[in-house]
Amino acid sequence: MNSCLINAWQLNIAVLVTAVVCIGGVLLARWVINQRDFPGRDTFILMHLASMWWMAMAGLEVASVAPECKMLWATMSWPGIISVPTFWAVFLWQYVGSVRKPLGRRSLLGMILMPLLIWMVVLSNPWHQLFYGPATGPVSAEPGAPIRFEHGPLFYAVAVYVYLFMSFSLGVVLRAALISHGVHRRHYLAFVLVTAVPWSANIAYVGFGFVVFGVDPTPFSFVFTLVAFSWLILGVRLFDLVPVARHLLLEALPDPVIVVDTQWRVIEANQAALKLDGMGAEWQGRRLQDWPVFGSDLQAQLQEQLELREPLLIQTSAEHYFEVRMRPIERLTRHGVLLLGRLLYLRDVTQRQLAKLKLAEALALSEERLRTITSLHEQLREQALCDPLTGLYNRRYLDEMFGRELARARREHSPLSLALIDLDHFKQLNDQHGHLDGDDVLKSVAQHLLVNLRSSDTVFRIGGEEFLLILPGADAREATKRLEAICLGLAQKQIETRSGMRHMTLSAGLALWPEQGNALDELMRAADAALYEAKRAGRNRVCSLLPRVASPAAEAPVLGKG
Ligand code: GH3
Ligand code: MG
Ligand code: MG
Repeated sequence: MNSCLINAWQLNIAVLVTAVVCIGGVLLARWVINQRDFPGRDTFILMHLASMWWMAMAGLEVASVAPECKMLWATMSWPGIISVPTFWAVFLWQYVGSVRKPLGRRSLLGMILMPLLIWMVVLSNPWHQLFYGPATGPVSAEPGAPIRFEHGPLFYAVAVYVYLFMSFSLGVVLRAALISHGVHRRHYLAFVLVTAVPWSANIAYVGFGFVVFGVDPTPFSFVFTLVAFSWLILGVRLFDLVPVARHLLLEALPDPVIVVDTQWRVIEANQAALKLDGMGAEWQGRRLQDWPVFGSDLQAQLQEQLELREPLLIQTSAEHYFEVRMRPIERLTRHGVLLLGRLLYLRDVTQRQLAKLKLAEALALSEERLRTITSLHEQLREQALCDPLTGLYNRRYLDEMFGRELARARREHSPLSLALIDLDHFKQLNDQHGHLDGDDVLKSVAQHLLVNLRSSDTVFRIGGEEFLLILPGADAREATKRLEAICLGLAQKQIETRSGMRHMTLSAGLALWPEQGNALDELMRAADAALYEAKRAGRNRVCSLLPRVASPAAEAPVLGKG
């Protein structure tokens, strides 16, 4: 070996090409190491290093002059020759299957065991000559002439071993190309091509004795491999694309998934998304806004709120609702975060949405019913508090109303009067003209009372032909004056009934707060007593039992006879 290193060298174009390819390969491997991680990266780098080893040894073989040195470098190239297809197969399998787990120590050992073993076989060739036959030697007597190798049975056995790996590699990328479509298919077809070129070169050498610069052309075909990979990595952004395994995962999702680039062009959509609105075959590369039915609306909304915190609700057809979530697809580069596109994830929420709409409808209906019930309730209360014949408040409302007025009178230190009114000889009228006539008179009297009261006064019908008046702010004199006016007014009134004109008078008894009591029943008792007095004194008058404010009417009935 040492003698071969210091021995004579020859420099020609073949040596230069080999050196350039080797340097290029090492630089590429270094560049890949600095790139973002991708499935199978470690194996990919190992594969390149192995091929560089092969290449370097081939270069040394060409560059050396002595035949035994050429033989030595040829032997040294074997660990590289065997490692290349091994790493290549493993890399493709990892890349296509999106396997990100780094290789374990054991599998690495397994991968380099066979190359070492085969290397031993080649090294021991001078003893068994089963790898290279005895006819192996320089093609001519010229110094530095290339070696022609006679291939022995072990060489072919190793060739079969290598071809098994290469067939596996080709199978993996072919399968990937077959099951994917569009950009992905083109991507994997490029892989097939890159894999097939060194293979073809090797078949040409092993099968047909084709040589370049007098040596195996396979390592030179790596010139192509290097260029192709550089192009795929830099030009097509090989490692930014979604490998098949992810693609399959996307397809298997029952929910629609759409991937758009930074220009809102659809670059990926799974079957569920394509089914949404019968989007035609030409969807790839079209803008999201051109997507039928919901596209323009969705794009506009998403553009408006790029930081979509809450999912967006869209309606894709009359009866279909989807919730849209958006995630940015970013890549970490040395200069910061680079936005590649966005992933839109749609979830079918039709059932939930329809249920929500139904609920809202039911809620609106029950609200409407509640309003009706409330209004009926108010009507009922009104009816319960009012007398149906006259429309006046009845006894039920008296307590509440009196309590309120009394509280106010106390608060304002103002007087409060209460009057009981009873129609005179009403039974007689009923007997003579009938009950219906009596009803008409009752209505007219109620009307007469209402018309002659102030807005603050309240009148109740508390019995058949008995009424009660609350007169807030009226002292005895004032109340007496107003009641007498009412009494006189009724006595002078012609009352129209269904069977003719009638005449009616009333008697009234007055009670005063606080002089004659504090509670309602106390005051009513006092008023009743005064009413009794009015009846006794001849009816058609107003009486009060307050000693100082005795009604002049009570002493001398001035209102005419009832
Ligand atoms: P007095 O002057 O002493 O009060 O004589 P009166 O006939 O009015 O006697 P009383 O108060 O006892 O009679 C009341 C009558 O009112 C008895 C009843 O027939 C009649 N009445 C009670 N409620 C109604 C009603 O709703 N409609 C009609 N038409 N009559 C009623
Ligand atoms: Mg009565
Ligand atoms: Mg009466």
